[in-house]
Amino acid sequence: AHEGILRRQSLRESAARTYARSLPIVPVRARGLTIEGADGRRYLDCLSGAGTLALGHNHPVVLEAIKKVLDSGAPLHVLDLATPVKDAFITELFATLPRGLADNARVQFCGPAGTDAVEAALKLVRTATGRSGLLSFTGAYHGMTAGAFDASGGAQDVRVTRLPYPYDYRCPFGVGGERGAELSARWTENLLDDPKGGVPSPAGMILEPVQGEGGVIPAPDDWMRRMRTITADRSIPLIADEVQTGVGRTGAFWAVEHSGVVPDVMVMSKAIGGSLPLAVVVYRSDLDVWEPGAHAGTFRGNQLAMAAGAATLAYVRENRLADRAAVLGARMTGQLQGLAADHPCIGNVRGRGLMIGVELVDPDAGDRTSTGAPPAAPALAAAVQQECLERGLIVELGGRHAGVVRLLPPLTLTDEQATAVLDRLADALSAAER
Ligand code: PMP
Repeated sequence: AHEGILRRQSLRESAARTYARSLPIVPVRARGLTIEGADGRRYLDCLSGAGTLALGHNHPVVLEAIKKVLDSGAPLHVLDLATPVKDAFITELFATLPRGLADNARVQFCGPAGTDAVEAALKLVRTATGRSGLLSFTGAYHGMTAGAFDASGGAQDVRVTRLPYPYDYRCPFGVGGERGAELSARWTENLLDDPKGGVPSPAGMILEPVQGEGGVIPAPDDWMRRMRTITADRSIPLIADEVQTGVGRTGAFWAVEHSGVVPDVMVMSKAIGGSLPLAVVVYRSDLDVWEPGAHAGTFRGNQLAMAAGAATLAYVRENRLADRAAVLGARMTGQLQGLAADHPCIGNVRGRGLMIGVELVDPDAGDRTSTGAPPAAPALAAAVQQECLERGLIVELGGRHAGVVRLLPPLTLTDEQATAVLDRLADALSAAER
């Protein structure tokens, strides 16, 4: 069955698929951290539906919530009508919001994916400000629809101005550390205040508190606060894209809480649906100026996703899984940093909570970047991913040169599982280096 399914799907499905190209597995069963393939092999899944599965696969609390809706006879599709399930989800969501936003927020349900919520956020700030320009950051990832894609690292839209994200290891200013972040902030200020700077009047700034697809790059808290001040001083709404960083992943319920920054708009998806598709924008109520019908969409009321999501949010909050992610993430990151002594190909280990990146490099390459970092090693990273798979470990790659091994395990990861994950990764590194 395994080979047949892989062959048939590779014939009929577009080659543009991403995960299926590097992970030739046929999952048929899953629980927690573990996925079982049609060939009977078991894998530790540190991709977690691209960071969606805060509680791992098929968590009993999530399954129970879904079953309860199914058994109740509630309609599964209600467009954006009010329902008890939606009421419970909104109540739970608001209970998690950062202080400063919670008492003054509106929520807009969007199409099913993160990219839909990004589009809604961009449209919202453009409507509210009457301006069209947008500030985004190098290496960003916001989605694949036109507006979200343009806001991502490879901006095409002339209305989008890309600013340098503080990337310590490969600092765009060649200095790294606090000074690099400071220069990024000053660059932003100078550009905005220069009448000939060529920046179209900005309707908003969109940023990820930790860049995910860009290679797990956490923004320093001071830099986050600077961006808040810079935007607030100029009445530019700040949009935090928490699609990947939300729901405890980084060691706080929302990653903006690390810096205390209160954004004007927050984009949420992935884990908020408890493994089913759900996406929302939450924003300051005075931005809620759009006319009725200004933002529509058929699939904005997925009852099963809201039930699964409410159960997930409640479980993460009640069991303090964000704190758990902080502690376990710090330990794993420290252990990975320790591995670098034996593996010169580990150029940089970084992350926040259980969002961890290991940047692989070519240590022998002569032409170093201005910060002294050796060039990225995408071929080695791909080999490590394959060696991990051989050892029953699923990891994802990311980064601007696809040289970063990314770990996004469920927040329910146990200490023993964390050790197993790191052991397999260390073995895979050794094998790939040979
Ligand atoms: N924003 C961020 C920060 C993301 O990581 C992603 C997905 N990886 C998206 C937006 C887009 O979400 P989706 O793939 O659900 O459209």
